[in-house]
Amino acid sequence: MLRWSLLELIAPIRCAGCDLPGHTLCPQCMSRIVRTDSSTVCPRCGEVDGALRCPRCSQRPVSFSATRSVGPLETPLSRVITVYKDGGERRYAALLGDLLAHAVEEWQGWPEAVVAVPPTRTARRRRGFDHTLPLARAVAVTLDAPVVTLLAVGARRDQRDLGRVARLENMSGAFTVIGDGPVPRRIVLVDDVMTTGATLDAASEALLAAGAEEVRAAVLAHA
Ligand SMILES: [Zn+2]
Ligand SMILES: [Zn+2]
Repeated sequence: MLRWSLLELIAPIRCAGCDLPGHTLCPQCMSRIVRTDSSTVCPRCGEVDGALRCPRCSQRPVSFSATRSVGPLETPLSRVITVYKDGGERRYAALLGDLLAHAVEEWQGWPEAVVAVPPTRTARRRRGFDHTLPLARAVAVTLDAPVVTLLAVGARRDQRDLGRVARLENMSGAFTVIGDGPVPRRIVLVDDVMTTGATLDAASEALLAAGAEEVRAAVLAHA
């Protein structure tokens, strides 16, 4: 709280959507967030318009069984994510955590653990913080399951520079499962944005290979 007050003094918060002072996102911009309509997306990977026949899963199904997202990567949600992730504005963690927690509410009672997809060391250094962990914590509170650190990420190229095929290649085998003790059976995997799904797929594959029975994905946005 002290940290927030000091920050407020030095750099008062402004709405990520319209610059209005005093809000991370003002009520009006909050109401402009386009929400995922779960009846039109692929129930497995969350692909937009993939409800009947998903272009992604009909080619190569992802290894996780279900996806929930707040919405498509459009303003103002995309702006909030950019300010938080790339602007290093940690005051947005609570807002994004709340949005994501709300999106996964119906999974209450399902998972044994919530796992955050870890950022690469380079990305973490660039941002100065692990941006997925606060999101995982918010999801964990809502789902009444512990956050468990299970994934370590090896060296890999920044996905942003790569195309779809290169992303899949870059990601395969990128994650290793760490920690002793049995891997929880039902896991909710948390990440920020799903683009090709390659990152989540690789993370989920690693967890399944290590003994998890089912993995579901929770992301802020679909690109
Ligand atoms: Zn606003
Ligand atoms: Zn799909």
